Amino acid sequence: MASKKIHINGIVQGVGFRPFIYSTAMKFDIKGWVRNSSAGVDIHATGDENNITDFIETIKSSPPPLAKIDTLIETTVVTDEFTDFKILPSKYIPEAFVPISPDVSICSECKNELFNPEDRRFRYPFINCTNCGPRLTIIKDTPYDRPQTTMAPFIMCDQCKVEYENPLDRRFHAQPIACPNCGPYVWLERENHKILRGDDAIQNARQLLSDGKIIAIKGLGGFHLACDATNPKAIHNLRERKKRSDKPFAVMVFDVKTASKYCTLSKSEKSLLNCKESPIVILKKKNDQVLPEAIAPGRKTIGVMLPYTPLHLLLLEKEKSFPDILVMTSGNMSEEPIVTTNESAIEELGSIADGFLLHDRAIFTRVDDSVLLENNGEKYFFRRSRGYAPNAIPLPMETKEILAVGGELKNTFCLTKNKYAFISHHIGDLKNLETYQAFSKGIQHFQNILKTKPEYIACDSHPEYLSTKFANSYSEKERIPLIKIQHHHAHMASCLVDNMWNGDGLVIGVCLDGTGYGEDGQIWGGEFLIGNYQEYERLFHLEYMPLPGGDKAISNPNRIAAAYLWKLGLEWDERIPAIHSISQEEKKIIVRQLEAKINTPNTSSMGRLFDAVASLIGLRHMITYEAQAAIELEQICNTGIDDAYDFCLEGDLIILKKIFTDIIDDLDHSVPVSTISSKFHNGVANMVLEAVTALRTLNGHHSVALSGGVWQNQYLLNKTQRLLEQAGFTIFLHKNVPTNDGGISLGQSMIANEILSK
Ligand SMILES: [Zn+2]
Ligand SMILES: [Zn+2]
Ligand SMILES: [Zn+2]
Repeated sequence: MASKKIHINGIVQGVGFRPFIYSTAMKFDIKGWVRNSSAGVDIHATGDENNITDFIETIKSSPPPLAKIDTLIETTVVTDEFTDFKILPSKYIPEAFVPISPDVSICSECKNELFNPEDRRFRYPFINCTNCGPRLTIIKDTPYDRPQTTMAPFIMCDQCKVEYENPLDRRFHAQPIACPNCGPYVWLERENHKILRGDDAIQNARQLLSDGKIIAIKGLGGFHLACDATNPKAIHNLRERKKRSDKPFAVMVFDVKTASKYCTLSKSEKSLLNCKESPIVILKKKNDQVLPEAIAPGRKTIGVMLPYTPLHLLLLEKEKSFPDILVMTSGNMSEEPIVTTNESAIEELGSIADGFLLHDRAIFTRVDDSVLLENNGEKYFFRRSRGYAPNAIPLPMETKEILAVGGELKNTFCLTKNKYAFISHHIGDLKNLETYQAFSKGIQHFQNILKTKPEYIACDSHPEYLSTKFANSYSEKERIPLIKIQHHHAHMASCLVDNMWNGDGLVIGVCLDGTGYGEDGQIWGGEFLIGNYQEYERLFHLEYMPLPGGDKAISNPNRIAAAYLWKLGLEWDERIPAIHSISQEEKKIIVRQLEAKINTPNTSSMGRLFDAVASLIGLRHMITYEAQAAIELEQICNTGIDDAYDFCLEGDLIILKKIFTDIIDDLDHSVPVSTISSKFHNGVANMVLEAVTALRTLNGHHSVALSGGVWQNQYLLNKTQRLLEQAGFTIFLHKNVPTNDGGISLGQSMIANEILSK
């Protein structure tokens, strides 16, 4: 006989860990106990020595699907007399923390019960178990127990209670456990009247969707607006009422098979669609697809997700007369944050939706759908949110407790502790008041649930970012030091952390981006850096071009094109589509701004160069959502073309004149715009290769990190990747966080930590 104490850390609570320990103890005839503490899970195991070894091996090798063991420490202790194995009440240690699980899409066992007429939860839209269901969206505080969630008002019925208390039940301590007798319910509301509840409500909503109506649906982390994705009129109505002219809508289909009817799917794309995080996966539309162009205008791709809650499954259920694909777009007005309460849905979405499918389980934290795509078999994030946040991201080294507040657009914040970074769900554009409030509340909430109190705060060096202003006052109020970090250094560091780079030596950072505040007060975004977590040097950048009207110019690529031509000394020829699209009056204003340098900052942004080219060739002169022109330029690329325009490197500058004269020349010779776009993309990829090769010759560095919003461009990314690989470079691409500004909070925290450790 032997005894061991075992302490386990990681995601081990709210994931069926104790029942698993309990049944494993039974299997190996182990006596003793298991207990949750606010620092993890503690086990006292007594039994045959070999059995204890097998017991521990089983814990390590086959934990429950949602569990993630970070550390398991075993110590031999004096053998105690136990007659059985018990689950003891939780022990609460105030300052200790255990990571909490993200929201998880419905598991296969719950799915089976949902559609099993014999089951007592047959067609119950809130079915869940320890392996699936809501988490982050409903947690108000830790330890993760029902009274600390938005399930608190629902009193468990006797049957649920038995399951909840039985260590061998799949629902043992499943905090959101519910059934039709005791849990939340759905209802349909039209013109301020509850008209139907339960399954009748869902069926009626389906009928309305079939009839071309728009329905607001309360989901897991917020509302969706849904309509029949095969009905152009319904989509048109949705666009018009939502005031969203071109930005693509995501769709939801019942299963992978339906997805493959509309999109081409690789094996790894199939598994991404099906994974427990259930993100929106960006897929290639089939050429013969029958979907209306209006779902994703100008795109070869479409964002697809599968139903991730029981309610979604019931809504999408297959039936001949029902559309097998629904638009499921965020429930908001244009750029507002997603609505989360029934009251605000009716108020804010009242002018959009023809009906409301509501329920009475409150959403505590607004969490948007995650968006990603597959790149060479790996996940590549555009937005990391539902299903992933607040999972810990492992860090290459121990860190101080730091709060990094991220950027201004696509904001996320990040808290570090021990060897982990906890990056928030997608917060959004801080310039929106409600989003800003969610940002400051979210920071407080994360500090609470993660039991952390930052010793330092890090922010972007842009003086006008609201996150910077927040950091200034937070630093003052809490009397903790503030570290300001250059935007592209943060991008580069974020990519390095994402690859667990250990910080030894120096790396080349190719930061191709839209906008970032530069050390010289200009707008950076086409940057070649050499550096590490502590410092960087800027070795090449795109030559500065004027941006008449500053940020306002961003929505008018034709103005950008005109300003670039002016600066490069090229004629404003009316045959150039960009020039032709600007009125004489407007031209005069632009010239005045350029000559007097009124509100005309300089920029080295690669994003703006893409905008300028898109307009120059007549593709897009004005945009209705961020990066629209650049995205449309990518969409018309033709992979069969290898020709490229030439950039020139002169000193530390990347010179643009030749690119522009060559494009204009091609326009003169009626070269198709798809060819011009391909030659431009190829030219950028060649230029990156040329620049990093020059840096390698100069400094001998072989590793290249690619970060910044422009690397969302898959054509450019793949082309560049191939060239750099062939030339023998080691390439770091983003893995767990987006390459756009959603990832910079991670980089900020790491840089701050290293600066402080110097
Ligand atoms: Zn389940
Ligand atoms: Zn019940
Ligand atoms: Zn950026």
